[in-house]
Formats: sequence, C-alpha cells, structure tokens
Amino acid sequence: MSEINTNNHFDIIIIGGGLAGASLACALKDTSLKIAVVEAFPLKTDLQPSYDDRTLALSYGSRCIFEGLGLWSELEPHAQPIDTIHISDRGHFGVTRLTKEQESVEALGYVLENRTVGQQLFKAMNTAKNITVFCPATLKTLEQGEQQVSVEIVSDDKSCQLTATLLVAADGSNSQVMKLLAIGSSQKSYQQMALITNVTPSKKHNNVAYERFTENGPLAFLPMQQNRYSVVWTLSPQQAEAMYALDEADFLQQLQQCFGYRLGELKKAGTRARFPLSLQAATQMIHGRVALIGNAAHNVHPVAGQGFNLALRDIAQLSECIVDSYRAGGDIGSAKLLHAYAEQRQDDVKRVYRFTDTLVKTFSNPITPVAHLRSLSLLMVDVLPNIKRQLAVQSMGLSGKLSRLNRGLPL
Ligand SMILES: Cc1cc2nc3c(=O)[nH]c(=O)nc-3n(C[C@H](O)[C@H](O)[C@H](O)COP(=O)(O)OP(=O)(O)OC[C@H]3O[C@@H](n4cnc5c(N)ncnc54)[C@H](O)[C@@H]3O)c2cc1C
Repeated sequence: MSEINTNNHFDIIIIGGGLAGASLACALKDTSLKIAVVEAFPLKTDLQPSYDDRTLALSYGSRCIFEGLGLWSELEPHAQPIDTIHISDRGHFGVTRLTKEQESVEALGYVLENRTVGQQLFKAMNTAKNITVFCPATLKTLEQGEQQVSVEIVSDDKSCQLTATLLVAADGSNSQVMKLLAIGSSQKSYQQMALITNVTPSKKHNNVAYERFTENGPLAFLPMQQNRYSVVWTLSPQQAEAMYALDEADFLQQLQQCFGYRLGELKKAGTRARFPLSLQAATQMIHGRVALIGNAAHNVHPVAGQGFNLALRDIAQLSECIVDSYRAGGDIGSAKLLHAYAEQRQDDVKRVYRFTDTLVKTFSNPITPVAHLRSLSLLMVDVLPNIKRQLAVQSMGLSGKLSRLNRGLPL
C-alpha cells in the first residue's frame, strides 16, 4: 500500500482500479486535481477481473478516447485492427459485412488483450504526480456530508480515513459503493455463459472479425496478433460446463462444427474460462457526491463487445464535466455537475442496452419463424444502407452527441 500521508484529503477518490477506474484516473493525470485510486487486488493477480485472459474489442470511438488521453501510441503496437466484420447465422442464408472502406475509417475497431491495456493504464497512473494508488486496499465504509465524502479503507488489517470532494464508484458489478449507499439495480440473467479461449486457424485471418449467431447464442471470433483468434462462445450453463471439460482435440472439433471452415482448420486452443452473462443496470448513476462508471453502473452482454467501450464513454463525459467545472473554479462534486453527467449519458446507455438485448433475444432463439426472421433481418441490413450504417456507427462507438475525448481531442 502506498504511504499514507497526514493530508488524506483528495479532490477525487476512485474506488476500483480496474479498466474503468484506471482509465478515469489516466484521463485526469495531466490536471492538478489530487486523485486517490483504491484497488483491492494487486495488478498481475488473476483475481482482479479487469486484467484476466480476456481480450477487448475496442471500437474506433474508443481509440479516439485513448488518443485524447495520450495513451494510444502505447497501445497501438499491441492492437490488432479489424478491417471487416462478417455477421452470419448458422444454418441460415443471411450474411452481412461491415467494412472499413464503407465507413471511411482506418479500422472498424481493434482487439487488445485486457492484461496489456491494464498494464499500460497502471504504468501511466503510477508515474502521474497527482495520483496516489492505494493497492491492495478495500473500501469498508462511506459517509456523505454536504461538502465532502469520507471513506474508510483497509489494507493488511490497517485502516485509514480518506476524504474527497467527489467519489467515483468504479468497483464493478458487485459494487461495495452501491451497497453502502443502498443504490439498487435491475438484473436480467440470460441463463447463458460465455466460454472464452484463443485459437489458431490454418488460414490467415486478414483482419476479419466474425459474429456468428447459432441456435444456442452468439459465437464471436476476434482477430488477434500472431494470426490467433479470441473466441467468445455463448452457451447454456450446461453446454459451457461440457465444453470446458473436453480435452483440446474434442473441444476444437466441437468449435469447428459450430463455426464452420471459413478459416480452415482450427489447430490450437489456449486456456478456457467461463463467465456468467447478465444485464445489470444501476437504478441511478449518481448519488449525492458520488458518480458511477463502468460495470458498477451497467454490465451488458458481451455479444457486441460494448461493455468497456460504454465505460470509456462514461469516463470521457465525466472527466469533461469535472475539468470544465474545475477550470471555472466550480465544485467538482456538485449536484449540478453530477446531474449533467447522468443526463448526458442517458441516451447512449439506453441505446447500448437496447442494442445488446435485442441482438441476444433475436439471435439466440431456435424457433423456426424467429430464425427465418433473423435471416431476413441480416439480409435487410445488407440491402438497406441506412440500417447498415446505424449498425456500423453503433459498433464503432460513434452514436449520438460525442464528448471532446470521443472526438480524439484532449480535455
Ligand atoms: C466474456 C466477456 C467478454 C468481453 N468482451 C468485451 C469486449 O470485447 N469489448 C468491451 O468493450 N467489453 C467487453 N467486455 C466487458 C468488459 O470486460 C467490462 O466492461 C470491463 O472489464 C469493466 O471494467 P470495470 O473496471 O468497470 O469493472 P471490473 O473489471 O469489475 O473492475 C472493478 C475493480 O474494482 C475492484 N474492487 C471491487 N470492489 C472493491 C472494493 N470494495 N475496494 C476496492 N476495490 C474494489 C476490483 O478488484 C476490480 O479491479 C467483456 C466482458 C465479458 C464477461
């Protein structure tokens, strides 16, 4: 744990140093705001959910945000560009393709390993003069007053008090901040698990991502460096257990059968992991002097790789509100500022809930008329340029009114 000095008052305390919390701290690293980040697990432990074996499909809009943060040059060498997204329906005729040429962008998105993004964010946080990282340390209590928020954090059985003008909850879908403030959430379980792994195909991937809808749920193949693919396979809990237990050869055979031979033979599979899938939405994104970001505020199905992209747009908006108010000499934890943040995020969040939930509901349904309908809808997407454009804009994270960082501009 970092040295606790006598002056334990901060402008901002961020609870959770996962992808969302660390990104917010990095967004504010070149300001003179005094920031504390409290993270329960040391980086490099697999217990820390943000930095596990998963990969992230980052939208073009998220690349712009990282550019605005001055971090893209560090991430780019590790990023695999996606030039084409190929969307198909197993056993049916509908297919659509989104391409970078149609959208006139350098790439539709990028694939990065969670761990790589986490390491770059931690490096940037640890070298910033205005950021103190308390790690490993956990939040225990939280009290709100008129002028400040006060928390007790614990590390190695030692506790200390910190105070701040604004507190940000970035402590994930099992948020302690939400529990302490009695903030509720709506929950919807999809009764599905995501089985993730990396595979090597015999053919070159040519920067193509595949989203294949099957009778069980979506199967995503995301291109990675060294001609690998990151696989996110949505299955019922029983099927996920069964696939998890198979030896490598049998697992590859089952995966091959579901995906087909577009990429030739699937030759090698990495470690497998499973994640339960649900939609979880906090009933409020703000409370007194507290703002919620990332999975604490909303946890969506990974069908279209929207979760962290959505979190980055929370961060871009919140940091813009904070910096504008700070420069104008305002109160960065004021009700006015936090209401503006919540209001500005509303439409985007709703759009992503609708987008992911509709995809899951429509494309995980084995009933024949629904299956025909979804084939038709894929064909419609391919034929009608307006629908296709909307799908591409949503996938690229460029929908609605964009914050400065989302346009690649500095704060
Ligand atoms: C299978 C799968 C695939 C995905 N693929 C994509 C994708 O391609 N693209 C995309 O954009 N998103 C994707 N996501 C979503 C993405 O992983 C999440 O949106 C992202 O990890 C959320 O980060 P977070 O920091 O909000 O939460 P978390 O990763 O949960 O981090 C919360 C942090 O808070 C800490 N913490 C918790 N409680 C306390 C406490 N009391 N005190 C101190 N610290 C605490 C935790 O240790 C943790 O580090 C995927 C998700 C899944 C499940």
